Amino acid sequence: MDDCIFCKIIAKSIPSETVFENEDLIIFKDINPKARHHLLVVPKKHIPMIKDLNTEEGDGDLVGRMVLAARDIAKEMNLSGYQLQFNVDKSGGQVVFHIHLHLLSNG
Ligand code: 5GP
Ligand code: ZN
Repeated sequence: MDDCIFCKIIAKSIPSETVFENEDLIIFKDINPKARHHLLVVPKKHIPMIKDLNTEEGDGDLVGRMVLAARDIAKEMNLSGYQLQFNVDKSGGQVVFHIHLHLLSNG
């Protein structure tokens, strides 16, 4: 998606503080952190939001991998507790329309 900021981060055409990357996910620091640690877990596949998940294309498994990647990076960072949050659609607070999981922690 040409006009998607997260697709541009995935393509490295704009920079990010990436902390993890594999074949289908990237995790980078949120530019405007709302907690001491604020990461975004982002699939490389452009899916606008949770409402657009397609189970026939395996998106259910993809969301599972997002949650597990968040768990793993939180463990690596020695975070004792954290919040995992999806904002869904404009009225749900979503601003960037490329699906992402917020990982928020103060310690
Ligand atoms: P949303 O409200 O859509 O769930 O969250 C989007 C998040 O993306 C916000 O917390 C915002 O600070 C973050 N964000 C927006 N643009 C950029 C960017 O260019 N780089 C990074 N690292 N984060 C961004
Ligand atoms: Zn995108």
